[in-house]
Amino acid sequence: MNEQPRNEPVIRAEEIFEGIRDWVAIESPSGDAAAVNRMADHVQAGLARLGAVIERTPGRDGFGDILKARTQWGGDGPGILVLSHIDTVHPIGMIQKLKFERRGDVVFGPGIYDMKGGAYLAYYAYQHLVRAGRQTPLPVTFMFVPEEEVGSPTSREMIEAEARKNKYVLVTEPARDGGKIVTSRKGVGRFVVEVEGRPAHAGARHEDGRSAVRALAKLILEIEGMTDYARGITTNVGLISGGTGVNVVPQFATAEVDLRVPDAATGEEMVARILALSTDEPDVQVRVTGGMNRPPYVKDEKIAKLFDHAKMLAAEIGFDLQDCPITGGGSDGNFTAAVGVPTLDGLGVDGKGAHTDYEQAYYSSFEPRAKLMLRLLETLT
Ligand SMILES: [Zn+2]
Repeated sequence: MNEQPRNEPVIRAEEIFEGIRDWVAIESPSGDAAAVNRMADHVQAGLARLGAVIERTPGRDGFGDILKARTQWGGDGPGILVLSHIDTVHPIGMIQKLKFERRGDVVFGPGIYDMKGGAYLAYYAYQHLVRAGRQTPLPVTFMFVPEEEVGSPTSREMIEAEARKNKYVLVTEPARDGGKIVTSRKGVGRFVVEVEGRPAHAGARHEDGRSAVRALAKLILEIEGMTDYARGITTNVGLISGGTGVNVVPQFATAEVDLRVPDAATGEEMVARILALSTDEPDVQVRVTGGMNRPPYVKDEKIAKLFDHAKMLAAEIGFDLQDCPITGGGSDGNFTAAVGVPTLDGLGVDGKGAHTDYEQAYYSSFEPRAKLMLRLLETLT
């Protein structure tokens, strides 16, 4: 520390903590465009102070705006895309219950781990460069999307287009299991299964009825039976609905299905199987719609090389960086890896409890993770 030149800015955990507090204080549920835009306003103001070239794309379909900020240095060529989301799964008012507070190494707050903490680290690394009067060899584009938690329906295209314009993508999703980063993620599929039978009075005309619920029940078991842990395939019927009354043979029933697969070929196989579902119940129709929503993110040679580089930087900073086995959770990193751009994910803060009422980040991770982000920006060429 004492070897720092007098005016050289220092990366300080306390300063990061204060910055994250301000970001967490602006609650921003994905479905509340006005709230997410308040968050975007705050982030944009900070980026503007740093001299970034800012592009803000108005939101659509009820979602907030998409914010992009590019460094003035590094030229027009391909560079680094740092990808973050500023929405959270928590409703407005959650902060009354899950108060922002620090207890020892644990800092609580809605969205602090997923991923206001990580998004702030990216901003902080940029701020540090500007304060230190340093530039990176490559131009850096910071992108903040408004609806990652619902699958990025309005930002996906721009994420993919922006990834293609860059050499690397760094995603600030939370770290895993003691600071591990993410170099692969399963692909995610979503399906709706609609069943139509024939209604009848459950007492007087039972034999005329064709129960959609009965047919769907069989289909649910079939879908759940497709789970194959050994192959990394899971299916989950997460939502069901059907029927109109306890004394009516139900005409309609619906199920919504979540699919996770480790690679593209398995994805194609499973999508085909699910779309082909049918029933042997007479006079009952089955209609299945859906498909892959996030493609698998597979650790290829280029990603392995990028990871090795990050591991080397972490060793210089003073910690051992590991990556975790393939995770079932999808992120926007799935999109950027699938278009062939080397992607490192999970570069955000360490902690636990994403999407829960005990969501927390570890204070001790702030400084090393900010340094890792900074060094990646400074050393990637
Ligand atoms: Zn996230």
